Amino acid sequence: MRRTDYCGLMTEEDIGREAIAAGWVANKRDMGGVIFIDLADHTGVLQIVFNPKNTSSEAFKLAETVRNQSVIQVRGRMRLRDEETVNPKIKTGTIELQAETGELLSGARQLPFNPVDDKVIREDLRLQYRFLDLRSERMQKNLRFRYQIAKSARGFMDKEGFIEVETPMLTKSTPEGARDYLVPSRVHPGSFYALPQSPQIFKQLLMAGGIDKYYQIARCFRDEDLRADRQPEFTQLDLEMAFVEQEDILVLLERLFKHIMSEEMGLDIHDPFPRLTWQEAMDIYGTDKPDLRFDLPICELTDLAAKSDFSIFKKAISQGGVVRALVVPGQSDFTRSTIDDLTEFAIEQGAGGMAWIAWRPDGEIYSILTKYFSEEAMQELLLQAGASPGDFILFSADKKQVVRKVLGAMRNKLADLLNLRDNSFCFLIVTDFPMFEYSEAEKRYVSQHHPFTMPYPEDIARLESDPESVRSQAYDLVLNGTELGSGSIRIHDSETQRQIFSALGLTEEEIDHRFGFILNAFAYGTPPHGGFAFGLDRLVMILLGEDSLREIIAFPKAKDASDPLTGAPDTVDREQLDVLGLALKSDEFVEGAQIGASASGRKKYRTADINVEHIAEISRLRFDKSEMAEMKENLHSIIDWTQQLEEVDTEGLEPTENVYPLENVFQTKEPFRPTPQELLANAPVSRDGCFFVPEVIAQEEE
Ligand code: ASP
Repeated sequence: MRRTDYCGLMTEEDIGREAIAAGWVANKRDMGGVIFIDLADHTGVLQIVFNPKNTSSEAFKLAETVRNQSVIQVRGRMRLRDEETVNPKIKTGTIELQAETGELLSGARQLPFNPVDDKVIREDLRLQYRFLDLRSERMQKNLRFRYQIAKSARGFMDKEGFIEVETPMLTKSTPEGARDYLVPSRVHPGSFYALPQSPQIFKQLLMAGGIDKYYQIARCFRDEDLRADRQPEFTQLDLEMAFVEQEDILVLLERLFKHIMSEEMGLDIHDPFPRLTWQEAMDIYGTDKPDLRFDLPICELTDLAAKSDFSIFKKAISQGGVVRALVVPGQSDFTRSTIDDLTEFAIEQGAGGMAWIAWRPDGEIYSILTKYFSEEAMQELLLQAGASPGDFILFSADKKQVVRKVLGAMRNKLADLLNLRDNSFCFLIVTDFPMFEYSEAEKRYVSQHHPFTMPYPEDIARLESDPESVRSQAYDLVLNGTELGSGSIRIHDSETQRQIFSALGLTEEEIDHRFGFILNAFAYGTPPHGGFAFGLDRLVMILLGEDSLREIIAFPKAKDASDPLTGAPDTVDREQLDVLGLALKSDEFVEGAQIGASASGRKKYRTADINVEHIAEISRLRFDKSEMAEMKENLHSIIDWTQQLEEVDTEGLEPTENVYPLENVFQTKEPFRPTPQELLANAPVSRDGCFFVPEVIAQEEE
């Protein structure tokens, strides 16, 4: 028998009985004569005492020599701890296993880190040694919680009559708006599958196939630049229902999330969830995913601002822009440096500057604006803004899109500054998204959601004349300022679907080539349908209060989309490419000659190419053999250093403009004329005031 009990589940009730425990050596304390080992498994730790009196000499030797994180098995008797070794912080803090015999099941090498330590470990190292990292309490808790959430969601979907259906991984490109991951076909050289960005098309085909209520915990792949809340492959809970309207889906979502929150978090979330149209969200909060844990609404002041003589307001308004403001209650005493920071932040978000008013509690108004507003106009402005004495008011005047962006971001900035977020969970449903948005990059309209979204029937007439005004039956679910998921009522007739594709700039041939199969399905009897999908990873991340998806995915990708554990993506050899009918543009990328990830997870640089002789030649220096080796070593370490810099996680850090504080220095008129001693202070060899220098310097001196 390998074990009789889990380490963390032993209690005082087990005292006196024999037990076999097995697990990882979390840490070891050698008290000279007596050795304590904390033995850990996923349930917690159990203290094991090795004492020559009761412990076999082999087991004692094992305890002396075993390294942390080795796997051992110990047989012995449970007993109460001596008073001075009681640890009230852990569940098993009053008991211990008195070891009699023990066996090393698997030794651990010198550790890059011990996952039980409280230290912050470099993320690249954690990912490279993920199997060690997963042993930490945090990762154990996170993965188990994630499983519970998925289980709870599955339980709910099942009760509601949904069935889980798997959809293909090797498929055709789906239009979610990101770049596809492509998989070359061997059987059809030159053709590619795309990994699904979502099961969108298939779930609609399932509706056409009479499935009625589908769901799937589905893996999705999007080749986008990574952020803390984005991974190239992620998991959605994806669902679709036939014969429904928008309201049916929204109510189902409210019930699903109420269920999860109550079952897994013990929280009673109030429903119906607050709802805003996209227009309202953008106007009141400047974003389509506002964090409603705090209020700080944006107020519209364009009309009153137009009455002032303030040229910045006037200019923005004359160019069709708006003047809007945020009232920050009780903060009229923001310091000058806080105001400067906020102004700088507004500028980073695209504003030209930031006008503000500090309305002191005694009624006094500090602001540049007092010069440009009559006293009544100022009072009217403050009244309309809903401000009171003691408040700070900050303004943004520009094009509507810019003002929304600036004040939307400013709301979040102020929430950080003033600690306005509590640890509640605030769900929000946003509806009536615009059908299209203009893509500057592509110089055409693209879908806000995706092209299968049904526009409001009354807006269809404006598809060509005024596409920006067409609203779609699409909705988002937002939690604490993060978009959890989106969905829509779908188009279910091929005519409307064709119209939308052509509004998106696709030619008839392109439509038939890319989407002919779904248009065809719509022509054989498809029920009205709609659905939704939310990011399971994101939900778990928010509920756990983690700030990166990497904390809740067992084997996530690093920021550069690589996997430091396996070394993926990796080069392949030429035969594999040949079989697929592929040739690479440059040989540089073929196995053995590449700058890419190696199995150890470290990048393979072309270190063999460091040609010191060549460097010496072009810099007209002569190195001897030992200098050559030293130089090579130095160049390697520079490369290593660059690589380490590249791997430093700078996510969320403010860019540093100057690493060192810079000061202006005045150049002296007299040029600096060093003595030969000063000039050659670092020369490696000198004798009697003479220096051995490279030939090139000697020549210059002549
Ligand atoms: N497929 C959509 C997405 O991944 C969700 C949906 O419309 O159901 O965002």
